[in-house]
Amino acid sequence: MPLQKEHDHDVVVIGGGPAGSTIATLLSKQNRDVLLLESEKFPRYHIGESMVPGVVPILDELEVLDKVDAHGFVKKYGATFVWGQDRAPWDVRFCDRSIAAQKYGSTYQVIRSEFDELLLRHAQSKGVDVREEHKVTNVHFDGDRCKGVEFKNSQGQIQNATAKYIVDATGQAAILGRHLNLVEDDDKLRNIATWTYFKNVEQYDGLAAGNILTENTPNGWIWVIPRHDGLTSIGWVTTVDKYRQLLSESIEKTYLQVVTNSAETGRRLIDAEQAQPIRSIRDWSYTCKQFCGPGFLIAGDAAGFVDPLFSTGVWLAMNSGSLGANMLNQALNNPQKEAEFLNTYETAYKNFLGDVLSFVKYFYDAHLPKDSYFGEAQKIVQTDSNWSSRQDFVSLISGLHGLHSLTNRALETVPN
Ligand SMILES: Cc1cc2nc3c(=O)[nH]c(=O)nc-3n(C[C@H](O)[C@H](O)[C@H](O)COP(=O)(O)OP(=O)(O)OC[C@H]3O[C@@H](n4cnc5c(N)ncnc54)[C@H](O)[C@@H]3O)c2cc1C
Repeated sequence: MPLQKEHDHDVVVIGGGPAGSTIATLLSKQNRDVLLLESEKFPRYHIGESMVPGVVPILDELEVLDKVDAHGFVKKYGATFVWGQDRAPWDVRFCDRSIAAQKYGSTYQVIRSEFDELLLRHAQSKGVDVREEHKVTNVHFDGDRCKGVEFKNSQGQIQNATAKYIVDATGQAAILGRHLNLVEDDDKLRNIATWTYFKNVEQYDGLAAGNILTENTPNGWIWVIPRHDGLTSIGWVTTVDKYRQLLSESIEKTYLQVVTNSAETGRRLIDAEQAQPIRSIRDWSYTCKQFCGPGFLIAGDAAGFVDPLFSTGVWLAMNSGSLGANMLNQALNNPQKEAEFLNTYETAYKNFLGDVLSFVKYFYDAHLPKDSYFGEAQKIVQTDSNWSSRQDFVSLISGLHGLHSLTNRALETVPN
């Protein structure tokens, strides 16, 4: 195979999911020379279909909100839970809070192949050099400084690219985290997710039609997400230990028993028909010990993965992309302060992920009174406003609290 070398870029982004597209687009908007290498040909399948309103301000920042809005994704105005001591379903609405309620009071249920492709094509339209079917096979260091990548192009040739910064946005593949041995699993959230898609699932009425349903069951929890192609995504998440115990039967049989026997999901499935094969994935929460270092930054799932209980993955990925772009842009302007900018990114994003993770762990105790979940959210949000604890809960799970706190925390520590 011929060994070819690319010219030196400002930034090479590995991975074209939401984290990679976000950071690449925002850096390119600052006239940076950005090469994005993606191993797949888009559109490609991905799980993770329910957005929180916190993605909307970032879609706005990317200047892609109009395209996303015009695509026809299901509008999501809130969430329905069967969770806690009281087993009756209860709802929250994202506009059930004050700040920015008008603009960010809704979000989308997306088909990820379509959503991710939209973001990737948008990155291209903003000047990012996007190469699909280009798989990064190695990362190069000069001492402790990350200098470049080796990749296999769509013709199977091995090439190299160098850059001032390498961004790892490879999702759970976490190429840099694994190369540097940074990935630490969270022993308390070792889950397995199993899901498929159904036709003719009973939908809620009115504005609740686009709600996600999150239902606790004796063996974990279920998500129900309506999509604009008429299919409904239904997933079951359980711990790896329970999964092994229940596997005396086939996974398909066990999954179908769990979802059809659950009170609310089962009721909605009475006339439904399974439309696709059943899929399973390891759903292990983890965080990298470091989110950056000389010449590199890690974004999205590659930096840390939080259990999907509150549908926060894409929002976290895009948030880290947005903050990461801001910090890399400043580091490119001011290379002698690189360590301070990278440290700002790492500290702000680690604290932020920590808040999300701690609330997910609290919520996993599915038998508390509803008010305790609201009270715990209030402790985390800690606003000095007059919001009720219910509003703080909505603010936390909508991702808008996070967006403000992430930006503020970063700005408080940003070097002059
Ligand atoms: C069961 C489950 C349910 C979930 N539900 C939700 C949900 O409802 N809502 C939500 O917001 N999130 C959800 N998530 C999380 C969400 O899917 C992720 O957080 C999100 O996709 C992270 O985006 P990312 O850009 O970091 O990574 P990804 O979207 O995974 O993108 C990474 C990209 O990198 C590419 N890549 C990997 N290796 C290489 C390489 N070596 N070279 C080049 N390219 C490479 C991949 O092909 C991929 O396109 C769920 C996750 C799971 C497991």
